Amino acid sequence: MKEPQSFVPETTTGGPTAPSAYRKPNGEKPSVAGDPIILPPGIDSPTFKKFTQQLADIVGRDNVTVISKDEELYQESYLDPSKAHDMFHILEKQYFVSSAVVAPRDVPDVQAIMRLCNEFEVPVWPFSIGRNVGYGGAGPRVPGSLGMDMGRNMNKILNVDVEGAYALVEPGVTFFDLHDYLVKNNLRDRLWIDVPDLGGGSVLGNTCERGVGYTPYGDHWMMHCGMEVVLPDGSLIRTGMGALPDPNADPNLPPHEQTANSCWQLFNYGFGPYNDGIFTQSSLGVITKMGIWLMTNPGGYQSYLITIPSDKELHQAIEIIRPLRVGMVLQNVPTLRHVLMDAAVMGDKTTYSDSKKPLTDSEIDAIAKKLNLGRWNFYGALYGPEPIREVMWQVVKASFGNIPGAKFYFPEEMPDNKVLQIRNNTLQGIPSVDELKWVDWLPNGGHLFFSPIAKVTGDDALAQYELTRRRSEEFGFDFIGTFVVGMREMHHIVCIVYDRKDADSRRRAHKLISTLVDDAAKLGWGEYRTHLALMDQIAETYNFNDNAQMKLNEKIKNALDPKGILAPGKNGIWPSTYDKKAWRVPI
Ligand code: ADP
Repeated sequence: MKEPQSFVPETTTGGPTAPSAYRKPNGEKPSVAGDPIILPPGIDSPTFKKFTQQLADIVGRDNVTVISKDEELYQESYLDPSKAHDMFHILEKQYFVSSAVVAPRDVPDVQAIMRLCNEFEVPVWPFSIGRNVGYGGAGPRVPGSLGMDMGRNMNKILNVDVEGAYALVEPGVTFFDLHDYLVKNNLRDRLWIDVPDLGGGSVLGNTCERGVGYTPYGDHWMMHCGMEVVLPDGSLIRTGMGALPDPNADPNLPPHEQTANSCWQLFNYGFGPYNDGIFTQSSLGVITKMGIWLMTNPGGYQSYLITIPSDKELHQAIEIIRPLRVGMVLQNVPTLRHVLMDAAVMGDKTTYSDSKKPLTDSEIDAIAKKLNLGRWNFYGALYGPEPIREVMWQVVKASFGNIPGAKFYFPEEMPDNKVLQIRNNTLQGIPSVDELKWVDWLPNGGHLFFSPIAKVTGDDALAQYELTRRRSEEFGFDFIGTFVVGMREMHHIVCIVYDRKDADSRRRAHKLISTLVDDAAKLGWGEYRTHLALMDQIAETYNFNDNAQMKLNEKIKNALDPKGILAPGKNGIWPSTYDKKAWRVPI
């Protein structure tokens, strides 16, 4: 049974912690030169050296980095992200840290790494780019795991099929890469991609975490089609139609290089049980290729902003949104954003107030007035040729026109409204990183997402807003949130911004999100995704019929990964080789 760490943090209260604050359980300091900050559980220094030597034999020395110096952990910029830890840490930054990071060059390297990890019983944590902001970055759930940087070398766009409107990508392809490809090849007038708020993440990584964007193709998982996956034992599969060989494939090539069935990216389900879902938010496989549908250029586009003056109209606004969205008059994934989210993109807190406390209603109103925004701001878009857009707009305008004080704007009318200009790009699949600005609301801004699912009803929206704002303020934070409207539900994204250099601020943020998870579960609300530190707690709330779903997940995990080497603890699923209680994150 794997026990928590050879080295454990000495303190959970202080500021930045030096590596010397790490001790073996018997109090000894890590002393061996070249040792990582933290070793994999159960692995001693000579074994680790042997392990990394054999890793280097597989991928080459340049593709193995031992995380041995604290300086490695000072890399904390979105544009140049760390590959070894969670940059937006809520525990000490040395907590969710890899012992080493390996970058496979191709599929056989991934297979060999999986076999080696089985041999040494070292946990391995795959990521594609490792940005994953607000959810743990590149950090592994089990400190000291081997990080597997899938994106560094495996970053090719393997195919863009214009007629079929799809792409096949490797893990390292970012939203920027795919968009640039379309622009450079003069394909933007034929095809669009969908992008999340920040374009620097991996298309594959975001999709397998079930991330969302804002065009009509906003549900990325819904739009994926076909995957290639290395299982924990190193075997290679293709899902869906990819399991049916291409009759023209060259049998002399290794399987990962063989051409695939021509319907692999056209029909998701193939034959028999549909496996793809078990590789999302999962510890059952390492994804090496993924198909993604692209949107055909709709032939016309117009984004818009509708401002909703106060909290009083929130209920009515959501009741208006539901039938329009279900009926697809609202064609894309629109957002209803609280004004402080927009304010934070346009300035930090000191731009607006000297207050160190959560802002009051009248202070928030003053900010809205200054920015010419409502308390809530609805960003949507119309897609299609002009006559179609015109008819849709009449319906949208008439519906929202019932809200007293609602105002309507096109981006052309508000050139200085930075958020509307950004949304105008995002809603047509043009990536940017400008939204990250809201993280700087507080100095040394770090953030966590609390992301419960809500019904698209005024009652649910009001109740979630009331709860999350009240709790945020109780723990000393401003409420910054947005309702992201899917096909039948809303992802209510509450952005908890804290000062990551201030231990008290981090502790309050952690306590706040943990409290919210419990509050929400009591009301029947569950989160769609979470940070490493909250995975166990949230998994425990999905406990219908004596945790029947978790028992199934554990059964599958233990069958596919008997040594428990692949991402143990991911989304609260622990292999039988780990004592899950002992691995709970301290709070
Ligand atoms: P981003 O695209 O935001 O940079 P990451 O690359 O960090 O996101 O991926 C987010 C999470 O998705 C990872 O922590 C990991 O759990 C999972 N993941 C990403 N890529 C893969 C992959 N190729 N195979 C299996 N899981 C992956």
